[in-house]
Amino acid sequence: MGVTRRDILMNAGKLASGLAIGGTALHATGEDRAAAGPGKRKLKVVVTGGHPGDPEYGCGGTIARYTDRGDDVVLLYMNNGAWPPTPAPVRMAEAKKACEILGATPAYAGQVNGHAIVDNAHYDEFRKVIDGLAPDVLFVQWPIDHHPDHLAMSILALDTWLKSDRKYAFYYYEVGQDTMMFQPTEFVDIAAQAARKREACYAHASQTPDYWYPLQTQLSDFRGAESGYKSAEGFVRHWMSKGNMLP
Ligand SMILES: [Zn+2]
Repeated sequence: MGVTRRDILMNAGKLASGLAIGGTALHATGEDRAAAGPGKRKLKVVVTGGHPGDPEYGCGGTIARYTDRGDDVVLLYMNNGAWPPTPAPVRMAEAKKACEILGATPAYAGQVNGHAIVDNAHYDEFRKVIDGLAPDVLFVQWPIDHHPDHLAMSILALDTWLKSDRKYAFYYYEVGQDTMMFQPTEFVDIAAQAARKREACYAHASQTPDYWYPLQTQLSDFRGAESGYKSAEGFVRHWMSKGNMLP
């Protein structure tokens, strides 16, 4: 007797539902989410990522939903992505284009690709960057991951949030084949934003999008199957974070 892919999807969906019982809502609805709209204050959203491209691949659809309703979104990259043979100006131009497609603004935390440092000086430095951006919502890569830069950014961001007295919302996100052991508790329907997300990911032309983007699509299809959408991005809200801040 074989286990089909559909069985796996169904079981994963049940698991997700089970985990969400008693905790946060599995699906945030249009009513209980914070909305910009007329008369509402715009949100400042900061999406951190180990490299240019991580926020776009992990949360591109969600970012587009925020910016479409008028919220202000900054993609904060830990480094400029320079890696031989691709120099920093090429990577930064790609990031600028990706941000334009999503209606977001790029920013850099000043570290070096492949050489992430987590020490007291860098905790302080990173905290100043985030405090300067004054987010209402912070998105962070899940800290169990194949890439040390992703881990480092995640740890720096968690420390910053805890030291802020958790005054803004904190959500973890996942990226393609890098994130491990991630079970979302909340989902955002990105079917209507999928084309722009794809375009933003492909703006990182030096990063072999023909290889990476289909893997990310498998993931958003899978998260969609779990959550009842055609395509979705999944998030874990820190249990101590305020909720209902997804678009
Ligand atoms: Zn990365």
